[in-house]
Amino acid sequence: MSVVVERGLARCPRCVAVADYAFVESGPNSVRYEVHCARCGEDYCEVHAPMAPGFSAAVEALAAQPLIVAASDFGSRRRRFAAWTARLSRRTRKALRAIDFRRR
Ligand SMILES: [Zn+2]
Repeated sequence: MSVVVERGLARCPRCVAVADYAFVESGPNSVRYEVHCARCGEDYCEVHAPMAPGFSAAVEALAAQPLIVAASDFGSRRRRFAAWTARLSRRTRKALRAIDFRRR
């Protein structure tokens, strides 16, 4: 079932006279644009349906380009830091054991 969702006046695509137009729902996801010209008898029709945009976001087109970082960098830094703190902890305990805290 077709439902008119909008009516108005437009220019005839053939003779440019003022003509009647209508947007008509023609399906669950499509709408028809119809122009009926009383002067020349033109019956113009376009069917519109949703479609994916015809552009793509190329990296070069972005205003701010993303910083490319190696994914494993954080993991290796974390392991090196953990090893460094473990060595520091062992050295600190060893140094504390060597100190004679008894009062003289
Ligand atoms: Zn016309």
